[in-house]
Amino acid sequence: MLILGIESSCDETGIALYDSAAGLLAHALHSQVAMHAEYGGVVPELASRDHVRRVVPLLRSTLENAGKSLADIDAIAYTRGPGLSGALLVGCAFAEALALALDKPTVPVHHLEGHLLSPLLSSDPPVFPFVALLVSGGHTQLMKVSGVGAYELLGETLDDAAGEAFDKSAKLLGLPYPGGALLSRLAEQGDPARYTLPRPMLHSGDLDFSFSGLKTAVLTLVREHQDDPDAQFRADAARAFQEAIVEVLVKKSLKALKQTGLQRLVVAGGVGANRQLRASLDAEARRRRFRVHYPELEYCTDNGAMIALAGCLRLQAGTPAKPAGAFAVQPRWPLMQLADGAAAC
Ligand code: ATP
Ligand code: MG
Ligand code: FE
Repeated sequence: MLILGIESSCDETGIALYDSAAGLLAHALHSQVAMHAEYGGVVPELASRDHVRRVVPLLRSTLENAGKSLADIDAIAYTRGPGLSGALLVGCAFAEALALALDKPTVPVHHLEGHLLSPLLSSDPPVFPFVALLVSGGHTQLMKVSGVGAYELLGETLDDAAGEAFDKSAKLLGLPYPGGALLSRLAEQGDPARYTLPRPMLHSGDLDFSFSGLKTAVLTLVREHQDDPDAQFRADAARAFQEAIVEVLVKKSLKALKQTGLQRLVVAGGVGANRQLRASLDAEARRRRFRVHYPELEYCTDNGAMIALAGCLRLQAGTPAKPAGAFAVQPRWPLMQLADGAAAC
């Protein structure tokens, strides 16, 4: 079974071909980061227009790289939500139109389910059940994952997402958008002992998070050092931020493992690319003898491969594919609305 996957929920156009037997055959990605950088954030209208420009050339190159033709495709999976409605509509309308033309069914996919299952693309995939730490630009959740579609929310952020906190703190430190990865690189040159920032909700007794106060703490630190010529300041502040957020993410993940009695942790989403987070979780995993899995770096942030994979796993799990044609996107769509094993549409 060959699945075409299409991702267009935000500022990345991703296309992939996933074969149920052979795995990922090819994928292509175009990031709009450079286009949005001058505005300091994603401009939804520009994002939609760029998806329109990219989707056909990316599909062509993916087919070519996989040595496949349109006729080989068995079903088309695409991101139905959550995300920017205009951006989602481009991928969705394209997928449904192509499916109609090819007389193939579609599989609307939940974007976070794509992130959540992305570690299954790696050569050493996790087996169910596991605890998932989903840390992306728009979401921060701890979940118990018992199988495809069997998700139990253990805790989530009450305000900013982890990636959002990275990006906003990076902006406060004068880094260009999206600054998460840049902040993390800067932090590596920082002194962890120079500043200590709060660890929000570390001892809240539950598995929820809150990061907006941490961002405010960065703002206060920056204001206090406005006239400070110390070139090391930004690196030390970045390090202090990263130390705080990583400690909270790691401690809450450990608590989730303890609470569920599980011994496997899966990290997914863009912040899962963070080196300090990975190093800290790896050290805890060695110490406490649990397994930790990450997506390959290229599948941490948005991509088509995770959508093709999620579509394929959904079909294999018995979710019926949908006849092509009628469609709707779902810009707001809590993952927990996917009831046990229920269809994504
Ligand atoms: P969502 O999936 O919740 O809708 P999104 O698709 O924008 O949001 P992702 O693509 O999973 O989110 O991740 C992007 C986020 O990951 C950004 O906030 C970015 O700053 C952050 N990020 C990427 N690399 C790193 C890194 N090395 N360290 C910390 N954050 C990072
Ligand atoms: Mg993005
Ligand atoms: Fe995402």
